[in-house]
Amino acid sequence: MPLTPCTPAPRARLRTFGRLKRPGRLRTPGRLKVTALLASAVSVCLLAASAPATPLGVGDSLFPYLGNPGYDVASYHLSFTYPGTNSEPLQAVTTIGAWTTAPLDRVNLDFAHGTVDSVEVDGEPAAFTSVGEDLVVTPEDPLPEGSWTRITVRHTSDPTPARNRDGGWVRTADGLAMANQADVAHLVFPCNDHPSDKAMFTIRVTVPDGYTAVANGLPTGVQRAARMTTWTYRTQHPMATELAQVSIGRSSVLHRTGPHDLPVRDVVPTEDSRTLEPWLKKTPGQIAWMEGKVGRYPFETYGLLMADADTGFELETQTLSLFERGLFTESAHPRWYVESIMVHELSHQWFGDSVSPRTWSDLWLNEGHAIWYEALYAEEKAKRSMEARMKGAYKASDGWRAAGGPPAAPKAPDPGNKISIFRPNVYEGAALVLYALRQEIGRPAFEQVERAWVDRHQDATATTEDFVRLASEISGRDLGGFLGAWLYGEKTPPMPGHPDWR
Ligand SMILES: [Zn+2]
Repeated sequence: MPLTPCTPAPRARLRTFGRLKRPGRLRTPGRLKVTALLASAVSVCLLAASAPATPLGVGDSLFPYLGNPGYDVASYHLSFTYPGTNSEPLQAVTTIGAWTTAPLDRVNLDFAHGTVDSVEVDGEPAAFTSVGEDLVVTPEDPLPEGSWTRITVRHTSDPTPARNRDGGWVRTADGLAMANQADVAHLVFPCNDHPSDKAMFTIRVTVPDGYTAVANGLPTGVQRAARMTTWTYRTQHPMATELAQVSIGRSSVLHRTGPHDLPVRDVVPTEDSRTLEPWLKKTPGQIAWMEGKVGRYPFETYGLLMADADTGFELETQTLSLFERGLFTESAHPRWYVESIMVHELSHQWFGDSVSPRTWSDLWLNEGHAIWYEALYAEEKAKRSMEARMKGAYKASDGWRAAGGPPAAPKAPDPGNKISIFRPNVYEGAALVLYALRQEIGRPAFEQVERAWVDRHQDATATTEDFVRLASEISGRDLGGFLGAWLYGEKTPPMPGHPDWR
């Protein structure tokens, strides 16, 4: 995502919601208010003789409680019913299909902003409680390692802002969109909320007449009944939870065709269809341009979701990037700039979505590349010099590293800070690393690294180490020292070919 480089309109203060209830005894069935967003673990009373349920994580140093060990999710089936207003909870059912990778007495899911009605494991009612930001599920019988399990959670999904947190559902003028990056998909649905566990998604959304629902992937069915319509979408490639998208609004879906007959569909407020068309029609050409740089577009469809909301950012949700409508209608930015932001989100479909970061410290691989292609497009199409941009970045780089850490070892988010880990060190500061690499190994080798990267790690996750290894392999020399200094150094190393840069 890039942060929109303007002062976002002041937003309503985040609402605090009702008093947080302490979970009582572990129980099943029955309603349990998932105590939303407690800063620290809540003590819970548990069934006698079992160890206390505790929030778990997969060990991401930036988000210690994100994700959960012991299982690998293969599929999510999400089902939402929209009540016709974006200030009341949606009714939801989340079904997770997963393989266990360890014996499990309990299964921790990430979920922190809704009410859980019931949980079933393999068709049997299961006990559940909430601790920290985890929903801890205790099946009747422990799950052996290497077994397939299906967990069904009936819950609500609350679109009103969570305390101290932005994201998850985004309320638009006419409905809802989603912005889960980096750590807020679990404010929307129970999940293993870490990009290292990608899965296939089927998303069903039921909306009242007059609304249109669109989600990641391609539609597989529409059912109409009693003034409600249910839309179903399915992904054809695995996806990280942070990249899920559901749009509900008084929208039109505009169809066009990209390279190799790629279906392209944009979701726009119906009243803006004509105004936005001059922008939207640029997408097929931009896809062709990106394919010329790095190879075939990695997914089954693409398109822009134009949200009537002041998010302060755009977001590369898989196959359907989220944009603020105002970026295109308010003419606050030059044309070339807006187009380059479109390419930024598009390039994320390769860098960040198809190839996802193994940990959030690998975020520079998403944003550095997105800034790179944004800048390259601006250079080729609008004569905005890449070298001048990088020279400016070089000047600021030491300051960015001091504030946010080096690109591949970013500092943890400050509590309550909306910027989270999305600081300049992982944007322009990381594109500067790619520029240094191109200077060092030459343009042909650099371009080969880029192509090989998205080809080799398609539909998977990858690490900073993987990138250094690939660059070394293709350039035929050990780049560990060179890239190590650029990626982890407190100070910015000298720029190859530009000894005068300070
Ligand atoms: Zn980005």
